[in-house]
Amino acid sequence: MTKRFIALISIRFMLDNNEIDKVRPKRNLVNPDIPFHFLHEEEPDLEGNVQSINTIFLTSKECAFKCLMCDLWKNTLEAPTPKAAILKQINYALNRLPNSSVIKLYNSGNFFDQKSIPLSDYPGIIERVQSFKKVIVENHAKLCGQNCVDFNDQLNGKLEIAIGLETIHPDVLPKLNKQLSPEDFKIATKFLGANGIDMRAFILLNPPFLTDEKESIEWTIKTVQFAFDCGVGCCSIIPTRPGNGIMEILQKQGHYVPPTLNALEEVFDKALELKQGLVFVDSWDIDFLSSCTHCFEERKTRLNQMNLSQKRHQPITCSYHQ
Ligand code: SF4
Ligand SMILES: [Zn+2]
Repeated sequence: MTKRFIALISIRFMLDNNEIDKVRPKRNLVNPDIPFHFLHEEEPDLEGNVQSINTIFLTSKECAFKCLMCDLWKNTLEAPTPKAAILKQINYALNRLPNSSVIKLYNSGNFFDQKSIPLSDYPGIIERVQSFKKVIVENHAKLCGQNCVDFNDQLNGKLEIAIGLETIHPDVLPKLNKQLSPEDFKIATKFLGANGIDMRAFILLNPPFLTDEKESIEWTIKTVQFAFDCGVGCCSIIPTRPGNGIMEILQKQGHYVPPTLNALEEVFDKALELKQGLVFVDSWDIDFLSSCTHCFEERKTRLNQMNLSQKRHQPITCSYHQ
């Protein structure tokens, strides 16, 4: 990477696809016939009942967008997903997972991007998910159209679409290269809601360019509030992590600061206090938030318990730090 390029980042801040691409580390080797990960988890529903969920992380073509903070491309394919590969992957995972009532089909991108999930695979996918009462997929707000409605109509259960809203901060969201505005999110959620499709939102804590902890917490809560006002039933808060190349550069330049565990805890408490829907914090791979080895595991367990109970639990006290 040239000094000129790094200087360019500091001057301009608005980075395009090519610039984000240039500094990426290598992607992982993945097999189009095997999901790159799958797991069994639990989540409460809006009535407070714990649901068992089979989550399959499908290997598919990389997302057409290149958001500044995204590292999901690491486990994707460079070419369009071969026909029928997704069906093999679902079979592979379901043959190894226990029964569950809900299935998440997460493809590190947009389920309704036909280069990622070929249209010809829809009947086979629908056949394989008929026994689930809910099918959750992820999709960009701008790709939410009639395809989603048609897919939902063919399910026995209900479709839920998880949409990355990230932040509604007016200066930060445009810099994320997400090609999304809060208005786009509002239009998509109105359309999906009117068609009986459930929605969840992914919201960032400490996106790049929000480096003051207090301000970052404030904007995460404002974004959660906005998502609930748009009719989403569930907000999932994700601590923004480094690891995709460009985030490390932004961190060195002081434009990105990793969140603290304290901030994640505070934002979770505040979002639950809104009592407007389900709130989850992403506790997967949050070791980078740890500043104290003595209490980290206990605090992570507390977050997982709060994800399940949807109630604030007693904070963990630690004599090794204040
Ligand atoms: S839309 Fe989602 S998957 Fe695609 S680049 Fe952005 S964050 Fe990553
Ligand atoms: Zn501690």
